[in-house]
Amino acid sequence: MNNLNNLTIKQSYEYLNKKKCSSVELTSSCLEQIEKLNPEINAFITVSELALDEARKADELRSNNQELPLLGIPIALKDIYMTKGLRTTAASNVLRDYIPQYDATVVRKLKEAGAVILGKTNLDAWAHGSSGENSDFGPTKNPWDREYYVPGGSSSGSAAAVAANLCAAATGTDAGGSIRLPASFTDTVGLKPTYGLVSRYGIIAMASSLDSIGHFTKTVEDSALFLNITAGNDPFDATTTNKELPDYTKDLHKGIRGLKIGIPKEYLAMGIDKKIKENFDNALRQIEELGAEIIEISLPHTKYAVACYYIIQPSEVSSNLARYDGIRFGNDRSYFGDEAVRRIILGTFTLSAGYYEAYYKKAMQVRTLIKRDFEQVFNPPAGGVDAIIAPVSPTPPWKLGEKLDNPLRMYLSDIFTTTANLAGIPGLSVPSGFINGLPAGFQILGPQFSEKLLFQIGHAFEQTQERKILDI
Ligand code: GLN
Repeated sequence: MNNLNNLTIKQSYEYLNKKKCSSVELTSSCLEQIEKLNPEINAFITVSELALDEARKADELRSNNQELPLLGIPIALKDIYMTKGLRTTAASNVLRDYIPQYDATVVRKLKEAGAVILGKTNLDAWAHGSSGENSDFGPTKNPWDREYYVPGGSSSGSAAAVAANLCAAATGTDAGGSIRLPASFTDTVGLKPTYGLVSRYGIIAMASSLDSIGHFTKTVEDSALFLNITAGNDPFDATTTNKELPDYTKDLHKGIRGLKIGIPKEYLAMGIDKKIKENFDNALRQIEELGAEIIEISLPHTKYAVACYYIIQPSEVSSNLARYDGIRFGNDRSYFGDEAVRRIILGTFTLSAGYYEAYYKKAMQVRTLIKRDFEQVFNPPAGGVDAIIAPVSPTPPWKLGEKLDNPLRMYLSDIFTTTANLAGIPGLSVPSGFINGLPAGFQILGPQFSEKLLFQIGHAFEQTQERKILDI
């Protein structure tokens, strides 16, 4: 049987249950695709030698009528998730040979759900970046144009792996757009959950107040399915919620008639590419046709988001990276790349006596204003919007190397994504077609813990689109 690697999670589950294929066949199909394409795309840093064994075990469990939501389904993990006994590098030379002693909570949950772990995917080192080029293991290429274009970052390998059908789904992290941006550049679905919905335990910290733990899938339904497994309280992460959580796959088919959807005017004014605007307008029309009411809204502090993010984030980075002193983990500081050094220096400066008030404290105050902008549109005195839709990136994917010598230009690609992290709200990036052969997507933002509604909207939109399978 060919192309089993093209299947979604849901389809894989059906194939396995109906005995149309085994997990060994499914996993082998992914491993073959990795062998064929990884030398070119560079989506994986490490391929697990245990994948086929795990698949064999899954087949055995299934033949004993064991039922688990991901039993025998091959997935990949961003190489910033700790995996017991499997090298975890954060794509940095500092951790080039680091082998963790325990699994991140999410990894444990995925394993308990029966997933087969194919390996660890490439990223911008320490999750610093928007293009995937800032990896000490070489850049990842956009599978839709492997010669010239970036796949977006920092979860570049996970996005590329799902897009190129090297796996059914993959995990990512999003502190300022690192899931949504690469999802929109690769025609995949990317979820950045509400801060505190998914445990950060065992995931190498970038910016602790911004890091959100999410994933890439081929469909919105798969994204909901995946979140059912990863979400929930974790005693090892005090910021995780105690809320009772819904079944995220429920109500997917409910439609969006009557929902109020806000369009933030600031997002369509700020240096947005004409083609992106056109693509977004088309998506908007579809959403309107599905029966939602479109309302123009204002999020007036949006223009400060990138500046605010690029103070708070490096401040937290400088504190989190201080533990890599060459004594406890991996190699010493001389192994840090330029971007990490830039952020450590910047963050140390913004936290230092005298500058703390002028930069860090100010940025935290602006962060509150950005958060309030959202609260005011979701809960104004007289009823607000249910969700917001906006472009993910102001431009289509750019060429490899194009922004490498200009960090500021690179940072500006995060202009529409950093707001959700600063406010702690969820964002779902959904594919919305192609611009000159390269994918585009838009994001659906909602109040904290509104993931179920975001899936409902994303799913309704997705039904108006044809799923394009990358045939390489
Ligand atoms: N591009 C942003 C940065 O470089 C976002 C990174 C992230 O979300 N991990 O910081």
